[in-house]
Amino acid sequence: MSVNVLFSARPALWPVYEPLLTQYLDEAGVDVRLGTDFEPDQVDYVIYAPNGGLLDFAPFTRLKAVLSLWAGVEKIADNETLTVPLARMVDHGLTQGMTEWVVGHVLRYHLRMDRHITVQDGVWAPDAIPLAQDRNVCILGLGALGEAAARALAALNFQVTGWSRTAKDIPGVTCLHSHEGLRQALSQAEIVALLLPDTPATENALNAETLALLPKGARIINPGRGPLIDDEALLDALNTGQVGHATLDVFRVEPLPADHPYWAHPNVTVTPHIASETRPVTAAQVICENIRRGEAGEPFVHLVDRTLGY
Ligand code: NDP
Repeated sequence: MSVNVLFSARPALWPVYEPLLTQYLDEAGVDVRLGTDFEPDQVDYVIYAPNGGLLDFAPFTRLKAVLSLWAGVEKIADNETLTVPLARMVDHGLTQGMTEWVVGHVLRYHLRMDRHITVQDGVWAPDAIPLAQDRNVCILGLGALGEAAARALAALNFQVTGWSRTAKDIPGVTCLHSHEGLRQALSQAEIVALLLPDTPATENALNAETLALLPKGARIINPGRGPLIDDEALLDALNTGQVGHATLDVFRVEPLPADHPYWAHPNVTVTPHIASETRPVTAAQVICENIRRGEAGEPFVHLVDRTLGY
């Protein structure tokens, strides 16, 4: 009986992934049939993205695992029809892209780039820029993406504080956890980047109470997920100056509706969920490694803890 792998993602991705998956599975010596159209009860693995439209896994009676092309799995983690292991995407290219995006936006704030790039008002007003060693940057979430960004910022000498659910030890990064740890991290954060997953426990991590802990004028960078921020509270904080500026890549509703106040706010930069994307060349290797593992009876990597939602 052949091993069948269903590709259920945006159709335009199939011609990109199909040759890569074929090549890597060949190289690994794994014999499978790849396709976008199998009878559900014939499928062994689903390569999954939410925009593939698959919602009901109940008919997939011989499924061994679902392998997500996305790092964020909030759209599938609580799917009760899914009873087999769910692996998420941890991809070198995705991580590198996110690190570059976060470091770029931190440097934009740190070096006050907008002041001299977007404002050319004829006023000669030199102002000293502190060194990175005198700037505190806080990363909420120290997983695959948050840790890489924290390490890169620490390598540039920023004072980096990170916060996660469990205790961590990352060289050059002050690692905190717990509710008290969050309060401590935010109370000194001049720039905050959110790289938490969207789960019931992280919803509104930045709310009126936690935003008030920040030093006045702090900057927020959110490439994590929209629900991590209470939008009303952030708009209030922007309007009072408690938050000086926010760069938002992700939103509760995407595309961000044209009449959303974020678009028109002078102290908000909206980017259209482009912080980083899964890179097919490296991501296909991650997918194939999990199929190889499944067929060899080895444990899958990057498994989602469905009770935690990430
Ligand atoms: P990981 O699962 O590797 O890391 C998640 C981190 O968040 C971990 O450090 C985890 O703590 C921490 N965390 C989770 N729940 C809590 C909690 N309740 N309290 C405190 N910390 C918590 O995810 P990734 O780093 O791979 O990705 C992070 C998110 O980035 C994704 O979920 C996705 O939403 C977003 N993303 C956005 C993209 C974009 O283009 N905008 C692209 C890719 C991803 P611990 O380590 O202790 O478990």
